Amino acid sequence: MTGELTFLRERWLQPAGGSVMQRRIIMPEWNTGETAFIAPLCSSCFDWAAHLARIASDATAQDANMLGVPVAVNAPPGHNRDRHCDYCYAELGDEAIGLDLAPLRSLTSRQRGGVTRHVIRQQRLCRQCYTWWRTVIADSSTVRGTSWRNGEGALGGWRSTVAFNVCGLFLQPRDQGVLEQTVLSMGRTFTASRPADVREWQRREDAIFFVGCGKSGRAKTICQGLAEDVRARVVLVSRPDSVADMAAALNSGAGDFLASPLSPQQVSGAFERVASPPASLGRDAATGLLLLDGPASNSADPVHGLTIRQPGDGDVAATAVILRRFLRGYDLVGMSAEGELTAHVRCQPEAVLNVIQRLQLILGERAEISEVGAESAVLPSSVAA
Ligand SMILES: [Zn+2]
Ligand SMILES: [Zn+2]
Repeated sequence: MTGELTFLRERWLQPAGGSVMQRRIIMPEWNTGETAFIAPLCSSCFDWAAHLARIASDATAQDANMLGVPVAVNAPPGHNRDRHCDYCYAELGDEAIGLDLAPLRSLTSRQRGGVTRHVIRQQRLCRQCYTWWRTVIADSSTVRGTSWRNGEGALGGWRSTVAFNVCGLFLQPRDQGVLEQTVLSMGRTFTASRPADVREWQRREDAIFFVGCGKSGRAKTICQGLAEDVRARVVLVSRPDSVADMAAALNSGAGDFLASPLSPQQVSGAFERVASPPASLGRDAATGLLLLDGPASNSADPVHGLTIRQPGDGDVAATAVILRRFLRGYDLVGMSAEGELTAHVRCQPEAVLNVIQRLQLILGERAEISEVGAESAVLPSSVAA
């Protein structure tokens, strides 16, 4: 079977038409807008995409442990998923991405003026889960488990030098599983904590603490109940709808943040940042991100600073979470002293362009990504909306 994967922009709007009285009683609904992206698929890719779409939306799927696949979360009993991502159950704002997976023969019948398009799978996704699809389509090795971002050079490999015992709180089961396996493979211990255990954390001088952010500010509350030196050993795990809690907890002194779903390399990168915090000028009040000092390179370990601007998209903290998820574990995400979103990526000079091109794919063509200190933007932003 051959087909297409189509991504459509959707907006939550009052339906048009009808009298004023009718409009008052008709509930808003998702309205499909322009096409965001179309991926034509050969038969083996089509079957593979259908498989990924299934396991990403099924919290009980046995084989969903491939790294990078969104953590599927079931709706609580009695909730419908209308306003939530079909994969990670993040609450959607007024914008979402609709996904259609359609075999080509039904496209053909539509083109011939046939009946309603036959789509075998329709899903509604948050921005982060859509971004995951875009990276998978651009480089399937990220989930096929073969080569890993070869074009970005060898510096993304395992470089773990520090390890900690870890306590985890409010984590999705799969994130907790990745964290536990990573910690055990480093020869350390993992403890699943409950909220009542948090007071014991003060005595765990050998441990660091991974706390899942939530919609009701739970990570901030946990941090504020800890002594300052303990807060610096908190690593936040953020989801697309818990970014506000992440920012508040970072401003309360949490040491670092990661994005769900976790990977072993991301966990290892957080260990490194907790053990030796990056040079910074404090925190950005709005996002809680570190105000990073200029990139600190040495010849064995070159670091390149990238500035990311997103005209028309003001949610800097949400973009930071997406960068944290899709950059490599040892790269830094923060703000520049000038208040611009910044990434410090470790790679050889000849790989910088590949990193920028991948970020352009991840953040969309309107994002302006430039290397700090380069004469001009490496990639001019597209004029297309
Ligand atoms: Zn193919
Ligand atoms: Zn999602």
